[in-house]
Amino acid sequence: MPDRYTERSADVLIVGAGIAGLSLAIALSKSDCHVVVIDGADRPKPVNAGVALNDWDLRVSALTPTSIRFLESLGVWQRIPSERTAPYQAMCVWDADGTGRITFNAEDVAAPCLGHIVENRQTVQALLECAEACSGVELRWQSALESLSRKPDGWSIDCAGDQRLSAQLVVAADGARSKVRQLTAQPTRDWDYHQSAIVGTVALSSPHQATCWQAFLSTGPLALLPLPDPSKVALVWSLDVQEHSGVAALSDTAFIEALNQALGPLAPHAEAVGTRVSFPLKQSHAIDYVDDALVLVADAAHSIHPLAGQGINLGLSDVRILAQELLAGCAGGLTVSSPVSLKRYQRQRKSENLAMMAAMEGFKRGFGSPHPAAVILRNIGLNMVERQPLLKRWFMRQAIS
Ligand SMILES: Cc1cc2nc3c(=O)[nH]c(=O)nc-3n(C[C@H](O)[C@H](O)[C@H](O)COP(=O)(O)OP(=O)(O)OC[C@H]3O[C@@H](n4cnc5c(N)ncnc54)[C@H](O)[C@@H]3O)c2cc1C
Repeated sequence: MPDRYTERSADVLIVGAGIAGLSLAIALSKSDCHVVVIDGADRPKPVNAGVALNDWDLRVSALTPTSIRFLESLGVWQRIPSERTAPYQAMCVWDADGTGRITFNAEDVAAPCLGHIVENRQTVQALLECAEACSGVELRWQSALESLSRKPDGWSIDCAGDQRLSAQLVVAADGARSKVRQLTAQPTRDWDYHQSAIVGTVALSSPHQATCWQAFLSTGPLALLPLPDPSKVALVWSLDVQEHSGVAALSDTAFIEALNQALGPLAPHAEAVGTRVSFPLKQSHAIDYVDDALVLVADAAHSIHPLAGQGINLGLSDVRILAQELLAGCAGGLTVSSPVSLKRYQRQRKSENLAMMAAMEGFKRGFGSPHPAAVILRNIGLNMVERQPLLKRWFMRQAIS
């Protein structure tokens, strides 16, 4: 029977053209490697530059200074229009069930800002422009991974559109529900939070003051992230599943009323909401990030609760370290799939990601408990950190590094 596939070869095949996959492709373009990136979706359309309520991307990220420096080193950050990035100077965090409150200010650590809020599609657009300008990088859209099999010198990969590719190294950058991870049976440790997050753009009746506002409620954390328009914020409202379905079904007017009630008097007042979308929240961590000629990065390796806005920052750190180790290995005469380089990557990244995930789990449990003793303890804790400048500066350095 004739083979329906046509075969092309690559040194590195990256599955997933999201923020992680594209940034890795650009970073690897500094080597002689031929890098192919496949994605099941269509090429993203040019981004909307409007400022009306529904013109903003529903997915935004709080990029830390470390992530921004990495994107700058790739020539990507410079391509994101500055009028679409929102530097934030402060973070205000409080316990909605008590009196605990803490405010972090950039000036306390002599930093110009604590980070930037950026729409994901703006970051992807800038990454795409850079990746398309790299001679060693090939992007293939509508090319969903279907199957892959191990060969003596790498992998044979079949994807949609009857395409067959061979590659020395396969990188899974295909997100939290990674097909690469499933097909290669990489085990994970999973926690279902039994929560979903409602995201959407919210218009305020007073300016957001370049501040990230975060309330911890017993039903889940609620965050308002400042957009470049001072009267608009991105909402990420995590709710236990029982609460979520009721809140998600509210009319816009009733939703705004519920939101203002949940925010209380500390945050700016919400006035209107655009389209709302929900995401189920799960934390998942691969037991190993590397296998024979295979490596997992970003959400394919670990997905984390959005309460600290760290998901893509951890992912970009994975990419930075993986690219560094692969480039150093190749320069030192190793093959691109050398287990030496892959293990160095895993050693550096796994412990940091695990520590962040454990901290998020602790926060989630501590703030999720309605028990009066837990409420008192966490409020004492927040107020104590607020009054200790050294401790507060230590927390801030962790948040912005
Ligand atoms: C509600 C919510 C709020 C969040 N807020 C923040 C925040 O403030 N800050 C932050 O840092 N993080 C945040 N995150 C997390 C952040 O969005 C993710 O960490 C980030 O998008 C992961 O990027 P990625 O490139 O690994 O995966 P993805 O963005 O999921 O990209 C995966 C890509 O792989 C492609 N793909 C999937 N399957 C296949 C296949 N079989 N074949 C080919 N291609 C495939 C997809 O089309 C996609 O393009 C949030 C997450 C949620 C759910």
